[in-house]
Amino acid sequence: MKSCEELRTGGTVAIVGAGPAGTMLARLLQTQGFSVKVFERDASPTARPQGGSLDLRKNAGQRAVEQAGLMEEFTHLSRSDAKAFKMLDSQGNPHPAGEAGTHEEAGPEIDRGDLRQMLLGSLAPDTIAWDHTLKDVLPETDGRWRLEFKDQAPVVADLVVGADGVGSRVRPRLTPVRPRYTGMTMLAGVIRKELWRGTEISDLVGEGSVMFADHNQTIFVQRCSHDLILLYYSMVVAQDWPASGGFALDDSDAVLDAIKAAYKDWSPELLAMLTQVDGKFNRWPLSVMPPDYQWETQPGLAMVGDSSHAMPPFTGKGVNLALLDSLELANALVADPAAEVTAVVRGCEARMQERTRNEIGECLGVGQFIYGLEVDFSKPQESDLRNLSQIVPVKE
Ligand SMILES: Cc1cc2nc3c(=O)[nH]c(=O)nc-3n(C[C@H](O)[C@H](O)[C@H](O)COP(=O)(O)OP(=O)(O)OC[C@H]3O[C@@H](n4cnc5c(N)ncnc54)[C@H](O)[C@@H]3O)c2cc1C
Repeated sequence: MKSCEELRTGGTVAIVGAGPAGTMLARLLQTQGFSVKVFERDASPTARPQGGSLDLRKNAGQRAVEQAGLMEEFTHLSRSDAKAFKMLDSQGNPHPAGEAGTHEEAGPEIDRGDLRQMLLGSLAPDTIAWDHTLKDVLPETDGRWRLEFKDQAPVVADLVVGADGVGSRVRPRLTPVRPRYTGMTMLAGVIRKELWRGTEISDLVGEGSVMFADHNQTIFVQRCSHDLILLYYSMVVAQDWPASGGFALDDSDAVLDAIKAAYKDWSPELLAMLTQVDGKFNRWPLSVMPPDYQWETQPGLAMVGDSSHAMPPFTGKGVNLALLDSLELANALVADPAAEVTAVVRGCEARMQERTRNEIGECLGVGQFIYGLEVDFSKPQESDLRNLSQIVPVKE
Protein backbone atom coordinates (compact mmCIF):
# COMPACT_ATOMS: atom_id res chain seq x y z
CA MET A 1 0.00 0.00 0.00
CA LYS A 2 1.09 3.55 -0.72
CA SER A 3 2.67 5.96 1.72
CA CYS A 4 0.64 8.99 2.70
CA GLU A 5 2.75 11.17 0.39
CA GLU A 6 2.19 8.80 -2.55
CA LEU A 7 -1.52 8.87 -1.82
CA ARG A 8 -1.49 12.66 -1.63
CA THR A 9 0.47 13.30 -4.80
CA GLY A 10 -0.57 10.42 -7.08
CA GLY A 11 -3.49 8.56 -5.52
CA THR A 12 -7.22 9.03 -5.26
CA VAL A 13 -9.49 9.15 -2.23
CA ALA A 14 -13.15 8.20 -2.68
CA ILE A 15 -15.46 9.27 0.14
CA VAL A 16 -18.91 7.69 0.22
CA GLY A 17 -21.54 10.04 1.65
CA ALA A 18 -21.82 13.85 1.64
CA GLY A 19 -23.02 14.21 5.23
CA PRO A 20 -21.07 16.18 7.84
CA ALA A 21 -18.31 13.54 8.14
CA GLY A 22 -17.77 13.08 4.40
CA THR A 23 -17.87 16.74 3.42
CA MET A 24 -15.60 17.74 6.31
CA LEU A 25 -13.06 15.06 5.41
CA ALA A 26 -13.16 16.13 1.77
CA ARG A 27 -12.57 19.76 2.73
CA LEU A 28 -9.66 18.96 5.05
CA LEU A 29 -7.97 16.64 2.54
CA GLN A 30 -8.48 18.98 -0.41
CA THR A 31 -6.83 21.84 1.43
CA GLN A 32 -3.80 19.53 1.86
CA GLY A 33 -3.62 18.73 -1.85
CA PHE A 34 -5.25 15.27 -1.97
CA SER A 35 -7.34 14.27 -4.97
CA VAL A 36 -10.79 13.63 -3.47
CA LYS A 37 -14.17 12.67 -4.88
CA VAL A 38 -17.34 12.32 -2.79
CA PHE A 39 -20.11 9.96 -3.95
CA GLU A 40 -23.55 10.82 -2.58
CA ARG A 41 -26.85 8.97 -2.89
CA ASP A 42 -29.00 12.13 -2.89
CA ALA A 43 -29.81 13.42 -6.37
CA SER A 44 -28.90 17.01 -5.40
CA PRO A 45 -28.03 19.13 -2.34
CA THR A 46 -31.72 19.99 -1.89
CA ALA A 47 -33.15 16.51 -2.55
CA ARG A 48 -34.44 16.07 1.03
CA PRO A 49 -34.80 18.06 4.24
CA GLN A 50 -31.66 17.72 6.36
CA GLY A 51 -33.35 17.85 9.76
CA GLY A 52 -32.98 20.11 12.75
CA SER A 53 -30.33 21.99 14.60
CA LEU A 54 -27.03 20.59 15.94
CA ASP A 55 -24.70 22.00 18.55
CA LEU A 56 -21.03 21.98 17.67
CA ARG A 57 -18.84 21.62 20.70
CA LYS A 58 -15.59 23.42 21.27
CA ASN A 59 -13.41 20.34 21.65
CA ALA A 60 -14.98 18.42 18.78
CA GLY A 61 -17.05 19.90 15.95
CA GLN A 62 -15.65 23.40 16.32
CA ARG A 63 -12.05 22.14 16.16
CA ALA A 64 -12.75 20.64 12.74
CA VAL A 65 -14.52 23.79 11.54
CA GLU A 66 -11.59 25.91 12.71
CA GLN A 67 -9.02 23.78 10.92
CA ALA A 68 -11.16 23.73 7.80
CA GLY A 69 -10.86 27.55 7.78
CA LEU A 70 -14.62 27.96 8.08
CA MET A 71 -14.98 29.52 11.53
CA GLU A 72 -16.05 32.92 10.23
CA GLU A 73 -18.82 31.44 8.13
CA PHE A 74 -19.83 29.11 10.97
CA THR A 75 -20.08 32.05 13.37
CA HIS A 76 -22.31 33.83 10.87
CA LEU A 77 -24.61 30.83 10.38
CA SER A 78 -24.76 29.52 13.95
CA ARG A 79 -26.82 30.79 16.90
CA SER A 80 -25.26 31.11 20.36
CA ASP A 81 -28.57 32.02 22.02
CA ALA A 82 -30.05 28.71 20.81
CA LYS A 83 -28.16 26.96 23.62
CA ALA A 84 -31.00 27.93 26.01
CA PHE A 85 -32.66 24.73 27.19
CA LYS A 86 -35.65 24.02 29.46
CA MET A 87 -37.01 20.75 30.78
CA LEU A 88 -40.71 20.34 31.58
CA ASP A 89 -42.96 17.39 32.37
CA SER A 90 -46.03 16.02 30.60
CA GLN A 91 -48.29 18.60 32.29
CA GLY A 92 -46.06 21.54 31.32
CA ASN A 93 -44.63 21.90 34.84
CA PRO A 94 -40.93 22.19 35.65
CA HIS A 95 -39.32 18.76 35.40
CA PRO A 96 -37.94 17.25 38.63
CA ALA A 97 -34.58 16.81 36.86
CA GLY A 98 -34.65 20.60 36.47
CA GLU A 99 -31.52 22.13 35.10
CA ALA A 100 -29.83 18.73 35.11
CA GLY A 101 -30.87 18.64 31.50
CA THR A 102 -28.90 21.73 30.51
CA HIS A 103 -25.96 20.76 28.32
CA GLU A 104 -23.01 22.51 29.89
CA GLU A 105 -20.59 21.75 27.09
CA ALA A 106 -23.10 22.73 24.38
CA GLY A 107 -21.75 24.96 21.64
CA PRO A 108 -23.61 27.26 19.25
CA GLU A 109 -26.38 25.61 17.24
CA ILE A 110 -26.34 25.35 13.47
CA ASP A 111 -29.04 23.88 11.27
CA ARG A 112 -27.90 20.64 9.73
CA GLY A 113 -28.80 21.97 6.26
CA ASP A 114 -26.71 25.12 6.82
CA LEU A 115 -23.74 23.09 8.06
CA ARG A 116 -23.91 20.86 5.01
CA GLN A 117 -24.30 23.81 2.67
CA MET A 118 -21.30 25.54 4.28
CA LEU A 119 -19.15 22.47 3.81
CA LEU A 120 -20.36 21.81 0.26
CA GLY A 121 -19.61 25.42 -0.66
CA SER A 122 -16.03 25.04 0.60
CA LEU A 123 -15.20 22.21 -1.83
CA ALA A 124 -13.64 22.48 -5.26
CA PRO A 125 -16.20 22.41 -8.10
CA ASP A 126 -17.38 18.92 -9.06
CA THR A 127 -16.04 17.28 -5.91
CA ILE A 128 -19.44 15.73 -5.27
CA ALA A 129 -20.91 13.13 -7.59
CA TRP A 130 -24.63 13.36 -6.78
CA ASP A 131 -27.03 10.52 -7.48
CA HIS A 132 -24.34 7.92 -6.79
CA THR A 133 -25.74 5.23 -4.50
CA LEU A 134 -22.97 2.85 -3.52
CA LYS A 135 -23.98 -0.78 -3.84
CA ASP A 136 -20.68 -2.42 -2.98
CA VAL A 137 -16.91 -1.99 -2.71
CA LEU A 138 -14.83 -4.76 -4.24
CA PRO A 139 -11.06 -5.37 -4.13
CA GLU A 140 -9.09 -4.99 -7.35
CA THR A 141 -6.04 -7.20 -7.94
CA ASP A 142 -3.66 -4.21 -7.61
CA GLY A 143 -4.68 -3.32 -4.02
CA ARG A 144 -7.17 -0.64 -5.02
CA TRP A 145 -10.95 -0.82 -4.53
CA ARG A 146 -13.76 -0.65 -7.06
CA LEU A 147 -16.89 1.20 -6.06
CA GLU A 148 -20.04 -0.10 -7.70
CA PHE A 149 -23.07 2.17 -7.89
CA LYS A 150 -26.70 1.83 -8.76
CA ASP A 151 -27.17 2.91 -12.40
CA GLN A 152 -23.75 4.64 -12.56
CA ALA A 153 -20.35 3.60 -13.89
CA PRO A 154 -17.95 2.03 -11.35
CA VAL A 155 -14.97 3.98 -10.03
CA VAL A 156 -11.61 2.75 -8.73
CA ALA A 157 -9.80 4.44 -5.83
CA ASP A 158 -6.73 3.92 -3.64
CA LEU A 159 -8.47 4.80 -0.39
CA VAL A 160 -12.22 4.43 0.12
CA VAL A 161 -13.72 6.10 3.18
CA GLY A 162 -17.22 5.11 4.27
CA ALA A 163 -18.98 8.24 5.51
CA ASP A 164 -22.33 6.83 4.46
CA GLY A 165 -24.08 6.81 7.80
CA VAL A 166 -25.96 4.19 9.72
CA GLY A 167 -26.76 1.97 6.70
CA SER A 168 -23.18 2.07 5.42
CA ARG A 169 -22.31 -0.10 2.42
CA VAL A 170 -18.58 0.18 3.20
CA ARG A 171 -18.87 -1.16 6.77
CA PRO A 172 -19.77 -4.75 5.69
CA ARG A 173 -16.28 -4.99 4.14
CA LEU A 174 -14.79 -4.36 7.58
CA THR A 175 -17.15 -6.05 10.01
CA PRO A 176 -20.26 -8.20 9.96
CA VAL A 177 -21.67 -6.28 12.93
CA ARG A 178 -24.61 -4.07 12.11
CA PRO A 179 -26.43 -1.40 14.11
CA ARG A 180 -29.29 -2.63 16.29
CA TYR A 181 -32.64 -0.90 16.16
CA THR A 182 -33.21 0.52 19.65
CA GLY A 183 -36.99 0.05 19.52
CA MET A 184 -37.50 3.80 19.24
CA THR A 185 -38.17 6.00 16.23
CA MET A 186 -37.94 9.79 16.35
CA LEU A 187 -40.73 11.38 14.41
CA ALA A 188 -40.10 14.99 13.41
CA GLY A 189 -42.79 17.54 12.55
CA VAL A 190 -42.39 21.15 11.51
CA ILE A 191 -44.27 24.26 12.55
CA ARG A 192 -43.76 27.02 10.05
CA LYS A 193 -43.66 30.71 10.90
CA GLU A 194 -47.18 31.38 9.65
CA LEU A 195 -48.43 28.94 12.28
CA TRP A 196 -46.20 29.74 15.24
CA ARG A 197 -45.87 33.52 15.00
CA GLY A 198 -47.13 35.09 18.22
CA THR A 199 -48.32 31.76 19.61
CA GLU A 200 -47.80 30.17 22.99
CA ILE A 201 -45.35 27.62 21.63
CA SER A 202 -43.10 30.32 20.25
CA ASP A 203 -42.96 32.05 23.66
CA LEU A 204 -42.30 28.76 25.36
CA VAL A 205 -39.40 27.67 23.19
CA GLY A 206 -37.79 31.13 23.07
CA GLU A 207 -34.56 31.09 21.06
CA GLY A 208 -33.55 27.60 22.16
CA SER A 209 -35.26 24.31 22.92
CA VAL A 210 -37.59 22.64 25.39
CA MET A 211 -37.63 18.98 26.30
CA PHE A 212 -40.92 17.65 27.68
CA ALA A 213 -40.19 14.35 29.42
CA ASP A 214 -42.43 11.90 31.30
CA HIS A 215 -43.61 8.28 31.22
CA ASN A 216 -40.42 7.24 29.36
CA GLN A 217 -41.40 9.54 26.50
CA THR A 218 -40.24 12.94 25.29
CA ILE A 219 -41.39 15.68 22.98
CA PHE A 220 -38.46 17.87 22.02
CA VAL A 221 -39.24 21.33 20.67
CA GLN A 222 -36.40 23.11 18.93
CA ARG A 223 -36.16 26.50 17.26
CA CYS A 224 -34.15 26.36 14.04
CA SER A 225 -33.05 28.96 11.52
CA HIS A 226 -35.24 29.90 8.55
CA ASP A 227 -38.32 30.54 10.76
CA LEU A 228 -38.87 26.92 11.65
CA ILE A 229 -39.76 25.24 14.91
CA LEU A 230 -39.21 21.49 14.94
CA LEU A 231 -40.92 18.94 17.15
CA TYR A 232 -39.48 15.48 17.77
CA TYR A 233 -41.73 12.74 19.19
CA SER A 234 -40.17 9.60 20.68
CA MET A 235 -42.23 6.68 19.41
CA VAL A 236 -41.79 3.10 20.60
CA VAL A 237 -42.71 1.38 17.36
CA ALA A 238 -41.44 -1.30 14.99
CA GLN A 239 -38.49 -0.34 12.81
CA ASP A 240 -40.63 -0.29 9.68
CA TRP A 241 -43.41 1.77 11.25
CA PRO A 242 -45.68 3.35 10.02
CA ALA A 243 -45.78 0.84 7.14
CA SER A 244 -46.13 -1.96 9.71
CA GLY A 245 -49.03 0.01 11.25
CA GLY A 246 -50.80 -0.09 7.90
CA PHE A 247 -50.41 3.55 6.85
CA ALA A 248 -47.91 5.82 5.10
CA LEU A 249 -45.82 8.63 6.58
CA ASP A 250 -47.55 11.16 4.37
CA ASP A 251 -50.93 10.17 5.82
CA SER A 252 -50.62 13.03 8.33
CA ASP A 253 -53.97 12.42 9.99
CA ALA A 254 -53.09 8.80 10.74
CA VAL A 255 -49.64 9.82 12.03
CA LEU A 256 -51.17 12.50 14.26
CA ASP A 257 -53.68 9.99 15.62
CA ALA A 258 -50.80 7.62 16.42
CA ILE A 259 -48.93 10.40 18.24
CA LYS A 260 -52.02 11.34 20.24
CA ALA A 261 -52.59 7.69 21.19
CA ALA A 262 -48.95 7.27 22.24
CA TYR A 263 -49.10 10.39 24.44
CA LYS A 264 -52.56 9.72 25.90
CA ASP A 265 -51.32 10.21 29.48
CA TRP A 266 -50.09 13.73 28.77
CA SER A 267 -52.03 16.91 29.46
CA PRO A 268 -54.58 17.22 26.60
CA GLU A 269 -54.07 21.02 26.41
CA LEU A 270 -50.29 20.61 26.19
CA LEU A 271 -50.60 17.87 23.60
CA ALA A 272 -52.97 20.01 21.52
CA MET A 273 -50.33 22.74 21.47
CA LEU A 274 -47.54 20.29 20.70
CA THR A 275 -49.27 18.67 17.75
CA GLN A 276 -49.97 21.76 15.64
CA VAL A 277 -47.53 20.66 12.97
CA ASP A 278 -48.01 21.63 9.37
CA GLY A 279 -48.71 18.13 8.16
CA LYS A 280 -45.34 16.79 7.07
CA PHE A 281 -43.40 14.26 9.09
CA ASN A 282 -39.95 12.70 8.87
CA ARG A 283 -38.89 9.59 10.70
CA TRP A 284 -35.55 8.46 12.13
CA PRO A 285 -35.52 4.87 13.38
CA LEU A 286 -32.79 5.09 16.05
CA SER A 287 -30.07 2.48 15.79
CA VAL A 288 -26.91 1.87 17.75
CA MET A 289 -23.75 -0.13 17.23
CA PRO A 290 -22.67 -2.44 20.06
CA PRO A 291 -20.31 -0.29 22.17
CA ASP A 292 -17.49 -2.82 22.29
CA TYR A 293 -17.42 -4.00 18.68
CA GLN A 294 -14.09 -3.83 16.92
CA TRP A 295 -12.87 -4.41 13.42
CA GLU A 296 -9.59 -5.22 11.70
CA THR A 297 -8.19 -2.50 9.49
CA GLN A 298 -8.37 -3.40 5.81
CA PRO A 299 -5.77 -1.83 3.49
CA GLY A 300 -7.42 0.88 1.41
CA LEU A 301 -10.60 1.17 3.50
CA ALA A 302 -11.67 3.41 6.38
CA MET A 303 -14.85 4.59 8.09
CA VAL A 304 -15.81 7.87 9.76
CA GLY A 305 -18.95 9.13 11.51
CA ASP A 306 -22.20 7.24 11.94
CA SER A 307 -21.09 4.48 9.57
CA SER A 308 -18.76 3.25 12.30
CA HIS A 309 -20.52 4.41 15.48
CA ALA A 310 -24.19 5.12 14.88
CA MET A 311 -25.91 6.02 18.14
CA PRO A 312 -29.19 7.68 19.11
CA PRO A 313 -29.11 11.45 19.63
CA PHE A 314 -29.59 11.19 23.42
CA THR A 315 -26.28 12.85 24.26
CA GLY A 316 -26.32 15.13 21.19
CA LYS A 317 -22.79 14.20 20.17
CA GLY A 318 -23.11 12.22 16.93
CA VAL A 319 -22.15 15.01 14.58
CA ASN A 320 -19.37 16.16 16.87
CA LEU A 321 -17.84 12.69 16.85
CA ALA A 322 -18.28 12.47 13.08
CA LEU A 323 -16.40 15.73 12.55
CA LEU A 324 -13.72 14.68 15.02
CA ASP A 325 -13.15 11.39 13.15
CA SER A 326 -12.65 13.32 9.92
CA LEU A 327 -10.31 15.82 11.56
CA GLU A 328 -8.16 13.09 13.07
CA LEU A 329 -8.00 11.04 9.88
CA ALA A 330 -7.08 14.06 7.75
CA ASN A 331 -4.41 15.16 10.23
CA ALA A 332 -2.96 11.68 10.53
CA LEU A 333 -2.67 11.37 6.73
CA VAL A 334 -0.43 14.46 6.58
CA ALA A 335 1.47 14.11 9.86
CA ASP A 336 4.16 11.75 8.52
CA PRO A 337 4.35 11.70 4.71
CA ALA A 338 6.49 8.53 4.69
CA ALA A 339 4.07 6.53 6.86
CA GLU A 340 2.05 3.75 5.26
CA VAL A 341 -1.59 4.70 4.78
CA THR A 342 -2.78 1.41 6.32
CA ALA A 343 -0.75 1.99 9.49
CA VAL A 344 -2.09 5.53 9.78
CA VAL A 345 -5.69 4.38 9.34
CA ARG A 346 -5.12 1.59 11.88
CA GLY A 347 -3.95 4.13 14.47
CA CYS A 348 -6.98 6.37 13.84
CA GLU A 349 -9.38 3.46 14.06
CA ALA A 350 -7.90 2.31 17.37
CA ARG A 351 -8.48 5.78 18.85
CA MET A 352 -11.96 5.93 17.33
CA GLN A 353 -12.91 2.53 18.72
CA GLU A 354 -11.77 3.53 22.20
CA ARG A 355 -13.74 6.79 22.06
CA THR A 356 -16.78 5.05 20.62
CA ARG A 357 -16.91 2.54 23.44
CA ASN A 358 -17.22 5.34 26.01
CA GLU A 359 -19.59 7.51 24.00
CA ILE A 360 -22.02 4.74 23.08
CA GLY A 361 -21.92 3.53 26.67
CA GLU A 362 -22.86 6.99 27.93
CA CYS A 363 -25.56 7.38 25.29
CA LEU A 364 -27.15 4.03 26.22
CA GLY A 365 -27.09 5.07 29.88
CA VAL A 366 -29.05 8.22 29.04
CA GLY A 367 -31.47 6.19 26.91
CA GLN A 368 -32.05 3.84 29.82
CA PHE A 369 -32.58 6.72 32.26
CA ILE A 370 -34.97 8.79 30.14
CA TYR A 371 -36.73 6.17 28.02
CA GLY A 372 -36.16 2.94 29.94
CA LEU A 373 -34.53 1.59 26.77
CA GLU A 374 -32.65 -1.69 26.97
CA VAL A 375 -30.84 -2.81 23.85
CA ASP A 376 -29.92 -6.49 23.76
CA PHE A 377 -26.53 -6.98 22.12
CA SER A 378 -26.02 -10.47 23.46
CA LYS A 379 -27.25 -12.33 20.41
CA PRO A 380 -25.95 -11.62 16.92
CA GLN A 381 -28.71 -10.50 14.62
CA GLU A 382 -29.45 -12.68 11.67
CA SER A 383 -28.20 -9.85 9.48
CA ASP A 384 -24.78 -9.98 11.21
CA LEU A 385 -24.35 -13.58 10.17
CA ARG A 386 -25.56 -12.89 6.65
CA ASN A 387 -23.01 -10.13 6.34
CA LEU A 388 -20.10 -12.31 7.41
CA SER A 389 -19.98 -13.58 3.85
CA GLN A 390 -19.38 -10.04 2.62
CA ILE A 391 -16.06 -9.52 4.38
CA VAL A 392 -13.22 -9.78 1.92
CA PRO A 393 -9.90 -10.35 3.68
CA VAL A 394 -7.12 -8.58 1.82
CA LYS A 395 -3.41 -9.22 2.33
CA GLU A 396 -1.23 -6.15 2.94
C1 LIG B 1 -33.27 13.08 15.19
C2 LIG B 1 -31.78 13.26 15.31
C3 LIG B 1 -31.27 14.34 16.02
C4 LIG B 1 -29.88 14.50 16.16
N1 LIG B 1 -29.40 15.54 16.92
C5 LIG B 1 -28.05 15.66 17.09
C6 LIG B 1 -27.50 16.71 17.89
O1 LIG B 1 -28.21 17.55 18.45
N2 LIG B 1 -26.13 16.80 18.01
C7 LIG B 1 -25.30 15.90 17.42
O2 LIG B 1 -24.06 16.01 17.58
N3 LIG B 1 -25.78 14.90 16.64
C8 LIG B 1 -27.12 14.76 16.47
N4 LIG B 1 -27.62 13.75 15.71
C9 LIG B 1 -26.69 12.81 15.09
C10 LIG B 1 -26.05 13.38 13.82
O3 LIG B 1 -27.04 13.87 12.96
C11 LIG B 1 -25.25 12.31 13.12
O4 LIG B 1 -24.38 11.72 14.05
C12 LIG B 1 -24.43 12.90 11.96
O5 LIG B 1 -25.30 13.38 10.96
C13 LIG B 1 -23.50 11.85 11.38
O6 LIG B 1 -22.90 12.36 10.22
P1 LIG B 1 -22.36 11.39 9.09
O7 LIG B 1 -21.81 12.27 8.03
O8 LIG B 1 -21.51 10.35 9.70
O9 LIG B 1 -23.66 10.61 8.58
P2 LIG B 1 -24.99 11.16 7.87
O10 LIG B 1 -25.34 12.50 8.36
O11 LIG B 1 -25.99 10.08 8.03
O12 LIG B 1 -24.58 11.29 6.34
C14 LIG B 1 -24.43 10.15 5.54
C15 LIG B 1 -24.52 10.55 4.07
O13 LIG B 1 -24.27 9.40 3.28
C16 LIG B 1 -25.26 9.31 2.26
N5 LIG B 1 -25.40 7.88 1.93
C17 LIG B 1 -25.99 6.92 2.67
N6 LIG B 1 -25.92 5.74 2.04
C18 LIG B 1 -25.26 5.96 0.88
C19 LIG B 1 -24.87 5.11 -0.21
N7 LIG B 1 -25.14 3.78 -0.21
N8 LIG B 1 -24.21 5.66 -1.25
C20 LIG B 1 -23.92 7.00 -1.26
N9 LIG B 1 -24.27 7.84 -0.26
C21 LIG B 1 -24.93 7.33 0.80
C22 LIG B 1 -26.52 9.91 2.88
O14 LIG B 1 -27.45 10.35 1.90
C23 LIG B 1 -25.92 11.06 3.68
O15 LIG B 1 -25.80 12.23 2.92
C24 LIG B 1 -28.99 13.58 15.55
C25 LIG B 1 -29.51 12.52 14.81
C26 LIG B 1 -30.90 12.34 14.71
C27 LIG B 1 -31.43 11.15 13.93
